[in-house]
Amino acid sequence: MVRAPAGDRGRGRRRRTRAFESRAHARAPHPSRARSARRPARGRGRIPAVSLPRAYRAHAIVLRGRNLGEADRALSLLTLERGKLDAVAKGVRRGDSRLSGRLELLSEVDASFHRGRSLDVITGADPVTSYWQRLVTPEAFAVASVVAELVDAFCEPELPVPAVYRLLRGATAAIAGRGEARRVLARFELRLLDELGLGIPLDACMHCQRALAEQAVVDLSVGGLACPSCLRPEGNTVLDAGELVALQHLGAPKGQGASLRAGAKVARAVETLIVHHLGKTARSLAALDALAPE
Ligand SMILES: [Zn+2]
Repeated sequence: MVRAPAGDRGRGRRRRTRAFESRAHARAPHPSRARSARRPARGRGRIPAVSLPRAYRAHAIVLRGRNLGEADRALSLLTLERGKLDAVAKGVRRGDSRLSGRLELLSEVDASFHRGRSLDVITGADPVTSYWQRLVTPEAFAVASVVAELVDAFCEPELPVPAVYRLLRGATAAIAGRGEARRVLARFELRLLDELGLGIPLDACMHCQRALAEQAVVDLSVGGLACPSCLRPEGNTVLDAGELVALQHLGAPKGQGASLRAGAKVARAVETLIVHHLGKTARSLAALDALAPE
C-alpha cells in the first residue's frame, strides 16, 4: 500500500473529523427532546468559546463512542459539571495511549479537556470508577447499553443535570453488582423520567386523577396509568393491586420505600411506557429483548 505523505494523512483525518462534526450537529431533532428538560432560551445553543477557558476539567461518564480515523474515538459523555457533551479521544485505540482502557461504556473519569472549534478534545482521564469488567456479561452489557442510550436521548447537550449524573452512576454500580439487571433498568427508567420532570404518576389515574388501588391499566396512548373506568382493561396490560404497589416501590425515590421487588410483568410495563416517552424504541432495548425476553 502506498502511504500518503504525512501532510495528506493529516488532512484526511481533519476531513473525517469535520464529517463527523457536521453529522453530529445536523442530527434531526429527536421527538423526545421536545419533552426533555428545557434550558432557559438565552442559554440555548453553544456558549461562545470566547467566554470560556481553553482548558477545563469535568467528571464524565461515557455514554457511547465511535471510531474516528485510524486511532481516535468520538465519545458522547455525560459530565457532572456541563451536562452532555461530545469530545474526541485522540489516539485512544493505540495500545500505548494514556487514555487506553479508561473510556469504555459507562466508565467514570475525572477528565481534562481542551476546547476545540466544535468538538472538544480529551487531554487526560483519571479513572474514578470502571465496572467494565463486570459489564461484559450479555445481560449486563445489554442493560448498560439501554441505560446509556436513554440518558443520551433524554438529556440535552451542555445542560447540567447533576441528579441524572448521580442516578447514572448508581445504576451502573447496581447493574455491575446484581443479578437482576432488568429490574435495575426499570427502576432507572422511572427515576430518570422523575429527575427530568417527566415523571409518570404511579398512584393516580392519568385521566380522572382518582387514586389507583385495586387495578391499574397501562395506557400507552398517554404513557401512564389509567383506572378501569377511564380505560377498558381488555387488550391492555393490567396491573393488580400487588403489582401496582411493586411498581410504586420500584419508582420511589431512594430512602422513600424504594425496592426492586417487582416481577417481570411490572418491569416490562415500565419498558413499554418508556418507549412512549422516548417516542421510539431504544435500539439497545430491542437488542435486550432479543437476548432474553422477559
Ligand atoms: Zn380514571
